Amino acid sequence: MLLVECRLLGERPEMSDDRKLGKLFIVGLGPGDLEHLTFEAKEVLIRSDVIVGYKTYIELVRELIADKQVISTGMGEEVERAAKAVSLAVAGKTVSLVSSGDPGIYGMAGLVFELLHSRDYPGAAEVKLQVVSGVPALCTAAALLGAPLMHDFACISLSDRLTSWQVVASRLGMAAEGDFVIVLYNPRSSERQHQLAEARKILLQHRSGSTPVGIVDSAFREGQKVTITDLERMLDFDVGMTSTIVVGNSTTFTFDQWMVTPRGYGAKYALGSET
Ligand code: SAH
Repeated sequence: MLLVECRLLGERPEMSDDRKLGKLFIVGLGPGDLEHLTFEAKEVLIRSDVIVGYKTYIELVRELIADKQVISTGMGEEVERAAKAVSLAVAGKTVSLVSSGDPGIYGMAGLVFELLHSRDYPGAAEVKLQVVSGVPALCTAAALLGAPLMHDFACISLSDRLTSWQVVASRLGMAAEGDFVIVLYNPRSSERQHQLAEARKILLQHRSGSTPVGIVDSAFREGQKVTITDLERMLDFDVGMTSTIVVGNSTTFTFDQWMVTPRGYGAKYALGSET
């Protein structure tokens, strides 16, 4: 299989004929501003012939890709998008398939591998494939909140579009029982309104209402909003498609505008004294 071969053999030798080999980069754009785009992501976007992505994400990098062929599709068309990117790369193009945050976290990377694994693309073995990681929303949300992910955490998507709610609910219960800090992705959309309230109910079975909750909306995009509240009151705030929620564990505390989960230094060292 192509990937195993590349890893074992290192760089592919140059082809002797002048056929152009296709390249497919699956690129993480980070939270949305160009400042958080990695140097590598920027470079591959600039090197690409074609950029494929969800239209909102294409807009985030529009100024970098003005001279490129752009194929942008809407929400829910991920399979078509990924298949198109693979076909273009197989045809010899250098393609960037863009994803918000990190492409390997609820992003496009897994889908491309699933397609390559299940469909027969003649010529796919010739394509150079690379996942270019990006800053995931859980990191940007944590940074804006302070340091809530300093101890073990679980990340759970509340979307039941591809995973049954039964599975999501069971994972929420187990993570809460295990006292993990819990990052909630995809907390609410216009079609999915009830999941967040149900998730809160499950969490409250294991955690007190005063447990700190951080809500980060549109991190590093227009309209960025950071809220620190608690499990009791978390439903009083606006939450949508671009919100990431961090629910603290039993030791998480807040002070000033920060949310912090202690790593354990306070129990080991006398942090209050200077010597
Ligand atoms: N691949 C992305 C996740 C895509 S799933 C990553 O690595 O972060 C989409 C979800 O990501 C959204 O529903 C939201 O929960 C979160 N998200 C993406 N961008 C965000 C941003 N700028 N601010 C806050 N949350 C964001």
